[in-house]
Order: sequence, then C-alpha cells, then structure tokens
Amino acid sequence: MLDKRKFYINGEWVDPTTPNDLEVLNPATEKPVAMISMGTAADIDRAVAAAKKAFVTYSRTSVKERLALLERLLAIYKRRYDEMVETITMELGAPVTMSREQQADVGVGHLQGFIDALKRLHTREVLPNGDVLLREPIGVCGLITPWNWPINQIALKVVPAMATGSTCVLKPSEFTPLNALLYAEMVHEAGFPAGTFNLVNGDGLNAGAALSRHKDVAMMSFTGSTRAGIAVSKDAADTVKRVTLELGGKSPNIVFEDADLEDRVTASVLECFNNSGQSCDAPTRLLVQKSVYDKVVEIATRVGRQVKVGNPAEEGSHIGPLVSDIQFSRVQALIEAGISEGARLLVGGAGKPQGFKTGYFVKPTIFADVNNTMRIAREEVFGPVLAIMPFDTEEEAIEIANDTNYGLAAYVQTGDPKRAERVASRLRAGMVHINGGPHRYGSPFGGYKQSGNGREGGRFGLEDFLEVKTVHRPDAA
Ligand code: NAD
Repeated sequence: MLDKRKFYINGEWVDPTTPNDLEVLNPATEKPVAMISMGTAADIDRAVAAAKKAFVTYSRTSVKERLALLERLLAIYKRRYDEMVETITMELGAPVTMSREQQADVGVGHLQGFIDALKRLHTREVLPNGDVLLREPIGVCGLITPWNWPINQIALKVVPAMATGSTCVLKPSEFTPLNALLYAEMVHEAGFPAGTFNLVNGDGLNAGAALSRHKDVAMMSFTGSTRAGIAVSKDAADTVKRVTLELGGKSPNIVFEDADLEDRVTASVLECFNNSGQSCDAPTRLLVQKSVYDKVVEIATRVGRQVKVGNPAEEGSHIGPLVSDIQFSRVQALIEAGISEGARLLVGGAGKPQGFKTGYFVKPTIFADVNNTMRIAREEVFGPVLAIMPFDTEEEAIEIANDTNYGLAAYVQTGDPKRAERVASRLRAGMVHINGGPHRYGSPFGGYKQSGNGREGGRFGLEDFLEVKTVHRPDAA
C-alpha cells in the first residue's frame, strides 16, 4: 500500500499537524491502495499562510514568466501521462482505455487551452472615457474538487489561478486524492515558486469548511454537489469572498423525429453511460418526440444491452464500477425509486451485474415512460441510468427540458439546423450540444440555475480569477 500521508505546503512535503489516516480504496476490488492524511483547520492555516506569502512576489511575475512555467508543467504532464492514467484507474475505477483517452487527456487539453488564452489576455486597456482598466490576480484561491473527473477539475482551477498570478490551496476529493498528489509533484518539478500551489487532503466538513471560511482566502472555486456548493457559499459569505461553483446537472437530450435516429440515439445512450454515468453534464433525460418514440425505445434497448461492465484494469470500451459504496447505495435507491414510481424498466435494474460480487459495479439501466415528476427525472442519479420520456411538440419539449432546478448542459438531436439553433436559444443551460457537437477546450464550461456560477476553461476561466481595477487619471477624457 502506498504511503501518501504528507501534504504539499510551501514547496515541501510535510506531515499533517495531527495524524489522521484514511485508506483510499480501489472501487473495483474494494481493497486499500494508499493511505492519506485527513487535514484539519491547522493544516489549512499553514497552507493559506504559505500561499499568502507567495502571493506578494508571484502576483508580480510577468505573463511571460508564467507562460514558461505552464509550458514546463505541460511537458512534465505529458512525460508522466501514463502514471496519471494508472492512478485514475486505480482510485476512481475508470477503465484504463477511458482513463487514457478521456480522463487524463483533459489535463493536457485544459492546460493548453489556458496557455492559448493567457497569450491573448489583455490585462490593461484604456476605456473610451480615458480611464485605465487593469485586470489583476485576485489573491489566495481555495480550490475544492470532486472525484468524478478528478484531474479535469484540478486543471480547471489550479491552472487559471496560477496563470493569472494568484496562489492557491487545493483540497481534492478524499475519494481520489492520488491524482492530485501526482499533480503536486509535477507542479513542484515545473519550478513554481514555493507557496504558489499548496495541497491539503481532507474531508469537506473539516478541511473544506476551514478553507471556505478562511479570512485570508480571497476566492473559493468549488466543483461538486449542489449541497456542498451551498455550504461553501454560506461559509464564504462572512468574509465576502468571490465564490464560483460548478455543481450538479440533470441534462435534457431532446430527440426530434427528423434526427438520424440510429446514429444519435446510439451516441446518446453511450454518452449517458460514459464514466459509469458519473458526469455532471451527462444527458440523463432523453426527451423523445412521440412519432418516433417506439423506434427510439427499441434502439436504446438494443444499445443499452450491449454496454458491457468490466474490470477497469483491462483495456476496452466497457464501463467500470462507481467510485464508492456510498454512490453504489445512492444509485440503487434511485433505480428502486424508478421501479416503484412506475417507470418501465427496459434494461438493467437493481443489484450488481452478473458475475460481480466484489466492487461497486452497477447494471447499466434504462427506463422508458418516465414523467418529469419522478425522482429519476428530477434528481441527479450519478450512475449509468437513463430516463426516457415522450413529448408532442417543440414547445412541450422545451418546457420539459427547462423544468428542472439544474441548468448545466442540454442536447438537441435534429436534422433541421434552424430548429437546432432556435431550440438551443431557449434552453436554460450553460452549454447546448447539437447533434453530438463536443465540448472543446478553451470554451466556457458551467451552468445556469442551481448548476452553479461562473465558467471554467479558456478566457472565461481566466477572467473568473481576476479582479478589475479602474485607474482614474486626471487627464481622462
Ligand atoms: P461532493 O459535493 O460530496 O464533494 C465535492 C468536494 O467537496 C469534495 O472535495 C468534498 O470533500 C468537498 N465537500 C463536501 N462537503 C463540503 C463542505 N460542506 N464544505 C466544503 N467542501 C465540501 O461531491 P462529489 O460526490 O465529490 O462529486 C459529485 C458531484 O459533483 C455531483 O453532484 C456532480 O454533478 C458534481 N460535479 C459538477 C461538475 C460541474 O462542472 N458542474 C463537474 C463534476 C462534478
């Protein structure tokens, strides 16, 4: 078992103030793979103090200097890429092919996206009235990340903080801390000044809350559940921090009768099940026009039955387990709620797939005849569970799609480009995917309503970490 009990503070690997061990489990085997420490408010204090001290000089570095550091980090990340792949497979249970092609790949894509955006960022401009507008680093940033796309969220927070001249303290998910510790090694090797980046492991209620409440933290950037996002916002309120949030989703996927059904429905089912359904922007509500409903149900059933569950250590396109026993129980409860509330079970159901006794594996599950009041239509399941529901008209589809507390992503499948744009403009979501259009690095990622505040990635991701200063000159026009 790996001993990963140290924190990274002020450029050094240090012991926690008070020993408090936690085992990290491999979700496929349920066996411990590493021991980490759970930090306390005292550890957070130490890390924030280091970041505060480093900010004095790091905030005055030039864009050129920071670009050089980021380029070095990119080269190191690429060199140690396979370690990242193995780590994410071990602690998250993402199948190794998926870890390589998707989970670890985003660490390269986002970093490159931020490098490109930083090169184009204007930190000084003269307003038409003659005043000067400066964009400056905000200060010490507290960064809290979840387990489901672990290095994705770390890159989306750590990189823009450091790129814009701020310093940071990262508290990654206690379920997937190992990729974060590996990232810390890379940041260290890249030569970022001591205290620029600090990492303290721990849970939300202790380490997380201490960070959100800390008076010397200027901004919290949080990704995780809406529940915890609300807690972070409340904890941050007393010190009037900026808070950006990337939270949950219940994203609608509207299939119109004029879509290429075979292609679009197949892709939609696979996308819902990708990462074992543990994606905030997963298309989990499949809204289908009544005229093609039976056909779509037939395709979805066929595709759903072909999705394999398998050992994450093996190459292939199968899906792996859920991350933890807590998630396993939550997903089981929601599958049972779907059945008891009267949805028609097409594929999967409660219990583990055949042949799996150990590991948090669940059956890829599809329900038809769901209505938008059922729990599986309203709550984020965060497992491979798809809810299919019918609609008649475009107007009704938009109404059902928007009838949710969330507003992260939405998906539209149609052969009519005018309709695609028209519907996209009316969906209350931060990102709309038309006919499989992917999310591209550098584009803003984030949601409306209870899916969060702020945008991550590229230019918008940098701007979230900047303060705006107006300089009034005596000779202004
Ligand atoms: P979670 O909210 O339980 O935990 C996320 C992080 O917050 C962890 O590091 C945890 O330790 C910490 N945390 C928990 N309670 C806290 C508190 N009171 N104060 C401070 N920190 C606290 O979520 P999770 O189970 O790790 O992740 C799954 C959730 O994340 C899902 O709801 C998913 O939709 C969401 N998510 C959103 C996005 C997005 O960009 N919108 C991306 C990925 C995941």
